[in-house]
Amino acid sequence: MVDLSKEIRAYALRNALEFGKADTGKILPKLFQHGLDRKDIKQTMPQITKIVNEVNALSAEERNKAFAELKDVVKEREEKEEGLPELEQAVDGQVITRLAPEPSKYNHIGHALVFLIQYLYAKKYHGKCILRFDDTNPEKSTLEYYNAMKDDLAWLGIKWDEERLASDDMPRMYTLAEQLISEKHAFVCSCVQEDMKSLREKMKACPCRKNAVQKNLDEWKLMLAGKFPEGSKTLRLKGDMKSNNGVMRDPVIARISFAEHFKQGKKYCVWPMYDFENPVEDSLNGVTHVIRSKEFELRAELHTFILELLKMKMPIVREIGRYQITGAETQGRVIREMIETGKINGWDDPRLVTVKALRRRGFVPEMFQELAQTVGLSKSSGHIDFSVLAAVNRKIIDARANRYSFVQDSIEVQVAGAPAIGKVTVQFHPDKPETRDVEVGHSFFISAGDFEAFKGKEIRLLHLYNLQLDDKPVKGKTSAMYTSTEVKPTPKINWVSSGTTARVLKEDGTWISGLVEKAASAIQIGEVVQFERFGFVRLDKINEKGELEFWFSHK
Ligand SMILES: [Zn+2]
Repeated sequence: MVDLSKEIRAYALRNALEFGKADTGKILPKLFQHGLDRKDIKQTMPQITKIVNEVNALSAEERNKAFAELKDVVKEREEKEEGLPELEQAVDGQVITRLAPEPSKYNHIGHALVFLIQYLYAKKYHGKCILRFDDTNPEKSTLEYYNAMKDDLAWLGIKWDEERLASDDMPRMYTLAEQLISEKHAFVCSCVQEDMKSLREKMKACPCRKNAVQKNLDEWKLMLAGKFPEGSKTLRLKGDMKSNNGVMRDPVIARISFAEHFKQGKKYCVWPMYDFENPVEDSLNGVTHVIRSKEFELRAELHTFILELLKMKMPIVREIGRYQITGAETQGRVIREMIETGKINGWDDPRLVTVKALRRRGFVPEMFQELAQTVGLSKSSGHIDFSVLAAVNRKIIDARANRYSFVQDSIEVQVAGAPAIGKVTVQFHPDKPETRDVEVGHSFFISAGDFEAFKGKEIRLLHLYNLQLDDKPVKGKTSAMYTSTEVKPTPKINWVSSGTTARVLKEDGTWISGLVEKAASAIQIGEVVQFERFGFVRLDKINEKGELEFWFSHK
């Protein structure tokens, strides 16, 4: 346990100076930012009371003098935490938020932002953040997705305090379901799905609604015992068949499935539906605040209704805008189809905005964190243009990414009349001291695009000298005449003397190739660098031909 006596004294003094008397309750919340652990609260309280009493016994003059010495200890919240607006009824040290992914897909950036916002709130209020998997859909939940989610969340910089699986609470959920049946709030329905659907559309109750409690309880037990085939029985809530909100019309809250669950195996054959499991779990987990995207708005009425029937505590729910990236597909179902039909290569295809894809392209966790702070609790849904992600990411990586020369579709240039230089020493980044030596001969490679743009004109080879380019190439080669070393307002272009073949996977899924300078062989897998005048790229791998394979981040 950290010794916080100095901090306690400082806050008590300030509190006493402000209000004439120090208040124990005002001191505790301040201590979390000085490293107080929630589990040490009990032990710390007597110490706070003791110091508060001491401070209150001092004269105003003594308080002033003592506070002058301890002033620097009093720390206000860090600036970045103030980026998020306050949550209603949030008590410092007592806020519990949760990240509740369904392990049935990969997260896209919209999920990542909601996860980060909830995590940042738990941190802001020195509370707790629970990672809970809503895994009660055994057909869809898999170990692969479960592991991938955890990997993504850790990479995003989220440090959850506790991890749970909703499926570990199945016995508790069964008990609650049974309570609903006993209290005549739920019934076992034997209607086939089509009939149920059409009756709900017509706002008409099904005959099973009238079944006696005992019959329902007996059938429920038989469901749990695996005596009924899949689809033959469901547990439905007595909602409101006349409600304009479709989800309120006697919704199914549990169903039969014999599918094997990735963690629970074949242990259970009755599974709660999301609308039952999710609010019940939030309440069981003691969640105080839920922040979720607006798409859940219609379900809120049902969630509140269920918790009221069960007399369970409701968390405070804040709905925020749903964020989409312009033009990017984010529907899990559609993405799965695109992968199956070979339209895209996988969940990390560069055309997607999954965390996995953006990560592989060279987007950094700080980009997501900054965006989450900016988005905050804003209710306005919106499309975020990809250029916004790129701009935030660029601001972060520009300062640290080493710069290299890359020429796309290279053309060799034979230079006549140039002085023999041998090599030039070039910094990797204008703000960093590290350099590399680049060999200089009498022939260079430049990109076909630069040649097309500047043929017949004078250009400057970056960091080197000026050339007069010829106006036509012969079989991938051209020539040029040395002019001077003088820095003139001529176009500056990149060049490679001896290089390595590099391929770059572009954001549209196509590959381009070219030559990258020799020094690039020291780039680490996973490192993000800048190809000058081309854009940022992340080294993904070295392929079997020894070529460097990069993924394009953005300009
Ligand atoms: Zn029925």
